[in-house]
Amino acid sequence: MSQERIAGEFREGMPFLGGHLWIDFLNTTPVIKGMALDLIGDRESLGRWAKQANLTIPAAAEADTIEDLRSLRAELEAAFGQLAAGLPLPRRTLEDINRRIARSGTRLHVAEQGGLPVIEERATLVGPPVATAVAWDFAHFLKAFDRERMRHCDNPACTMQFYDVGKNNRRRWCSMSVCGNRDKIAQYRARKASARA
Ligand SMILES: [Zn+2]
Repeated sequence: MSQERIAGEFREGMPFLGGHLWIDFLNTTPVIKGMALDLIGDRESLGRWAKQANLTIPAAAEADTIEDLRSLRAELEAAFGQLAAGLPLPRRTLEDINRRIARSGTRLHVAEQGGLPVIEERATLVGPPVATAVAWDFAHFLKAFDRERMRHCDNPACTMQFYDVGKNNRRRWCSMSVCGNRDKIAQYRARKASARA
């Protein structure tokens, strides 16, 4: 249950540009063409989103419920703001995350690479698969993060948030192809308009 670190990308029209699974999970309420969507609003959408998030859902897994996922999302939404502002997380949030990851754990696995042993950490997640993976990812995020890298997209009409993994920490847009280009076009029009004036 790991994700590749891609700065910004849409998969099947869904945004995966948060830089971390838990932030992609927050970004499941995009506003597209003026319409607010919920990408995990029903079981079918949830299945589609989970697949694109590279989450494997074992057949025997406990089921996630939409209600529980929405409550987790609201909680992490608040946590994003608190962390970005350098504020402590409410005790209730810590307790909730701990409850969600309590049955999961990692084990070490020794593999070999070029004749040398490599130690891999493998996670076994137990619980409703989406909620547990998101809570697990969030807990890992807390180990080491730079709050200056937690940002909203610069387009005020956009709801996307992300963690800037770029070297220069200068990412402004959820994605260059959506909000970045919009800005470029706006600037171009403004330049043309002022050149005419
Ligand atoms: Zn945006």
